[in-house]
Amino acid sequence: MALRKPEWIRVKMQGGTQQNKVNSLMSNLSLNTVCDEANCPNRMECYTRGTATFMILGKNCTRNCTFCNVTREKPDKVDPKEPENVAKAISKLGLKHAVITSVTRDDLEDQGANQFARVVEEIRKATPKVTIELLIPDMQGDKDLIDIIIDSEPNILNHNIETVPELYDKVRPMANFERSIELLDYVKKTKPDMRTKSGIMLGLGETEEQVLEVFKRLREVDCDMLTLGQYLQPTAKHIPVVEYITPDQFNEYKEIALSMGFKRVASAPLVRSSYYAEDF
Ligand code: SF4
Ligand code: SF4
Repeated sequence: MALRKPEWIRVKMQGGTQQNKVNSLMSNLSLNTVCDEANCPNRMECYTRGTATFMILGKNCTRNCTFCNVTREKPDKVDPKEPENVAKAISKLGLKHAVITSVTRDDLEDQGANQFARVVEEIRKATPKVTIELLIPDMQGDKDLIDIIIDSEPNILNHNIETVPELYDKVRPMANFERSIELLDYVKKTKPDMRTKSGIMLGLGETEEQVLEVFKRLREVDCDMLTLGQYLQPTAKHIPVVEYITPDQFNEYKEIALSMGFKRVASAPLVRSSYYAEDF
């Protein structure tokens, strides 16, 4: 039986005008947001603030993470106009900080690396002051592809570890913890002044000791920023929540992570990788 959601998980609903504005802008420009695809609990709040996270390279993922709400049908055709349209949307929404992510495209020869680079290029052309955060898939650890992304010079390169290695088989069966750590290591070694960021969902059955070990591994590769949030089961078909972590425990993790040397840490039940990313 599903665990009952505690009080601190209930999401405050706000007016829908801004949400409608963001949705219609995205649909006019044939763009997707991870906010909608992942059924993010912060949509009302983020849309009201004029923030959204763009999801490029289609709506269908080639991986099968058991926590994720993204669809896994036939991968979409890559839209050549997408980079320009993302740049247009950022300009229309008046964003100061843009977060761009994608589904994983194991089917494409370049796994979507060039589309990420083109998005950065178009945003720089249209709105040079906007800071850009790319939240990228693991590119199967292909360094040539990671180089394409690094060379596009986003301000922040984010790659989520998502959970502790002990739960990868259950949660991210097609991913590999060490490969993800290596990616963050490679980015930092290649471009030491590029800020790196990662995130973990909690409540999937991980132990505190395992979480702290992940912090240690991330600090060993000099990861600068960390986000920690509660996993919420998007539908009954997804992996169930094992535990609701209390806000106090999130605060404790934050203090520990800061003491280990992370420069910025966002840790609270509803924190997502891109939640208040502009304040990072
Ligand atoms: Fe979802 Fe990313 Fe996993 Fe694809 S790789 S199923 S988008 S979490
Ligand atoms: Fe979108 Fe991120 Fe806000 Fe969720 S937290 S609504 S994914 S911008």
